[in-house]
Amino acid sequence: MSYDLIIRDGTIVDGSGLPRYRADVAISDGRIAEIGKINGSAKEIIDAEGHIVSPGFIDGHTHMDAQIFWDALGTCSCWHGVTTVVMGNCGFSLAPCAEKDRQRVIRNLERAEDISPKAMEAGIKWSWDTFPQYLDTIDKLPKGINYTAYMGHSALRTYVMGERAFTEEATSEDLSAMKRELRGAIKAGAAGFSTSRNRNHETPDSKPVASRLANWNEVRELVGVMGDLGAGVFELAQEDIERDPERMRDFLGRLQRLALDTRVPTTFGVVSMRKAPHTWRPYFQMIDETVAAGGRMLAQGTSRWISSLLSFETAMPFDKTPVWSDMRQLPLAEQEAALRNPESRRALLEAAREYMTKPDRAIGAEARKPNFDYLFLFDKPLPPYRSIAQIAQEANKDPLEVIIDLALEKHLKQFFIQPIVNEDQDIVLGMMRHPRSVVTFSDSGAHVSQIMDSSIQTHLLGHWVRERQALTLEYAIRKITFELASFWGLQGRGMLREGNFADIAIFDPETISPTMPTLEYDLPAGARRLKQKSVGIKATIVNGQVLMRNNEHTGALPGKLIRGPLAASA
Ligand SMILES: [Zn+2]
Repeated sequence: MSYDLIIRDGTIVDGSGLPRYRADVAISDGRIAEIGKINGSAKEIIDAEGHIVSPGFIDGHTHMDAQIFWDALGTCSCWHGVTTVVMGNCGFSLAPCAEKDRQRVIRNLERAEDISPKAMEAGIKWSWDTFPQYLDTIDKLPKGINYTAYMGHSALRTYVMGERAFTEEATSEDLSAMKRELRGAIKAGAAGFSTSRNRNHETPDSKPVASRLANWNEVRELVGVMGDLGAGVFELAQEDIERDPERMRDFLGRLQRLALDTRVPTTFGVVSMRKAPHTWRPYFQMIDETVAAGGRMLAQGTSRWISSLLSFETAMPFDKTPVWSDMRQLPLAEQEAALRNPESRRALLEAAREYMTKPDRAIGAEARKPNFDYLFLFDKPLPPYRSIAQIAQEANKDPLEVIIDLALEKHLKQFFIQPIVNEDQDIVLGMMRHPRSVVTFSDSGAHVSQIMDSSIQTHLLGHWVRERQALTLEYAIRKITFELASFWGLQGRGMLREGNFADIAIFDPETISPTMPTLEYDLPAGARRLKQKSVGIKATIVNGQVLMRNNEHTGALPGKLIRGPLAASA
């Protein structure tokens, strides 16, 4: 037998959660031809001795909708073993969109997800009105990894209602038009429908994004479209109910009824918060009850805190004060000079100290007023990290001085981790152990200069599996492959079986880890973003072709648009 590719002598962790075993994998025509002892030849052989061979990772929560137009590879996810992503989360898709509404659709995205409007204006090649036309565009684009896309509620509302989408509830005509568009999108292969009801999602002028103007009936009617068609996943960014048990009960009850009435698979992020440490539990309880009653529901978790990466290259908490704001306009070297000058340093410290006494309002992943016990020096790729409070105490120094001195040591190229949620890593572990949660929620493609969570998969494997030995490799791999493929109905992916698509990650379990992030100005229009790669991944294979070898792009662009089941049967 002659194959396209043989992976020799690897240890297979196949995505199912079953124990590992040694075997070769043969690939032909983009599919796994055989797993076992393989005697045939191949055009290419990868020696996987000492390495794990697993399904390529699947990320169910990304915002790659804009970057797919300028970044064929799918960074930074593709550097962490990810071979398939779901985009269009939280109501933010670029379709449907009439030509006159392009600015409005950008407005929905830019602050809520921190994607530069200049980069979007320069980088997105608009050629669609409707969602089916958009899918055809994505289908034709060169792609490193596989994509599947939701239709987002903010875009849908804007398409149907124009400027009214940002100010009004939908009329019955609006609603029928939205339902018609959604039906068309699901039939053309949309992954489902997403929405946001979350206060973190604002436009640049501090107004709610369009989907937040929808009443619950509008959401129910739209999700009902998918229920009637028997296809599509519903994803939502939740309502803000955290400290109000009454509102929480009301929201969870509505969500459960919707999932059970429509039978639409429903998914959302669940995080814990230091200030309300038990609010994540009712979510899991509701999910368990929903599943017990016959619904399908999945919690999107992550493998660590979700944090703002503070630095003088990105954002610092005090940037809003006039003294800091003036200094922060300067080139980095001049900022360094200002911080080394005793007089201007004193003024900056004074402004920061004063800022610490006032309330502030940050949304999403914006830098917020620091709590020094929960601000960490990011000095290596994996935890544990020392807090600024701890370092200050050891050095008997003022925490603000510590931050400035540490930054100066690195010529201001020092990041600090400011967790926004999931501060407690034991709770994170507890959530990862829950059978109704997966590790996803990277927000890859969004918050590009604020957070860098495209590395949650390599963090999972390096920190929790290897260093902490808190999860088995088999379990961890299933949480980033098969469980996602099953929920989203990604046929033939997420598990290594003969006949399945050859989406494969080959990595060294002894070394796999993220590397340190950097800030780069490589987006269209020179916009900035955080970039993070990994070590320990020998090869990433997408649809049978090697996309990455030792995390270097091979030149292949084997990614595909994955359409939903109704498109496949059309
Ligand atoms: Zn999101």
